[in-house]
Amino acid sequence: MHCPFCGANDTKVIDSRLVAEGDQVRRRRECLASGCGERFTTFETAELVLPRLIKSDGSRQPFDEEKLRAGMQRALEKRPVSVERLEAALAHIKHKLRATGEREVKSLVVGELVMGELQKLDEVAYIRFASVYRRFQDLNEFREEIDRLAREPVKE
Ligand SMILES: [Zn+2]
Repeated sequence: MHCPFCGANDTKVIDSRLVAEGDQVRRRRECLASGCGERFTTFETAELVLPRLIKSDGSRQPFDEEKLRAGMQRALEKRPVSVERLEAALAHIKHKLRATGEREVKSLVVGELVMGELQKLDEVAYIRFASVYRRFQDLNEFREEIDRLAREPVKE
């Protein structure tokens, strides 16, 4: 770690603590270069990659935070929920996804996590999201039902 004051790379960590619910490490460092001795703070975040999502058709997609945020914002439209609380919910979801330690998770898992967070944030937003989300799932069930009926002989 280079000293931001003199550029020397001989610095010592004098204090280290976890911040942001343990997602970041805050370090106080001291420059060991003679004549400098400045102290500065660094924030280090582990760059854990989010798992890829396995869609119901088996295709894989990278985790898309913007898409997730947009979906939740849509559900929360005109609801009394602050941006901070939405961001905290997103952070929880990402934290849980990283905590799986998996390289790939079913997109269903994300949907369930979103519903869990929305349920805590706002009942109306939860119902809005659940109705859209469940409808997509039902669509698959619907298709299966059609296929099943198509295989069966018509009784009349
Ligand atoms: Zn220095």
